[in-house]
Amino acid sequence: MLELRPNCENCDKDLPPNSNEAMICTYECTFCTSCVENILENVCPNCGGNFENRPIRPTKARRPNVSLHYQLASKTKVQTKFTEQEIKTFAGNIKFISPEDR
Ligand SMILES: [Zn+2]
Ligand SMILES: [Zn+2]
Repeated sequence: MLELRPNCENCDKDLPPNSNEAMICTYECTFCTSCVENILENVCPNCGGNFENRPIRPTKARRPNVSLHYQLASKTKVQTKFTEQEIKTFAGNIKFISPEDR
């Protein structure tokens, strides 16, 4: 189950559970669409994988005990340990490799 982390790991933009701007890699490293497109270039600085839009967990329990109100979003902010330059350098070579070949 996804943690649904609350912010962009790079620019700290708020990414609430219903955000359309949250993107995640398979490890759930979480960034905003702007950072993924303009800085990360679709390369996760932590794992080298690609990003997809984070799905939105329904607020209404359409099955018993299954909704955002039962499985809460994380409130723990995560901040990248890499500088923007380190991120761009890391992405520089990897971005040319399609995700299925990384
Ligand atoms: Zn961001
Ligand atoms: Zn990652």
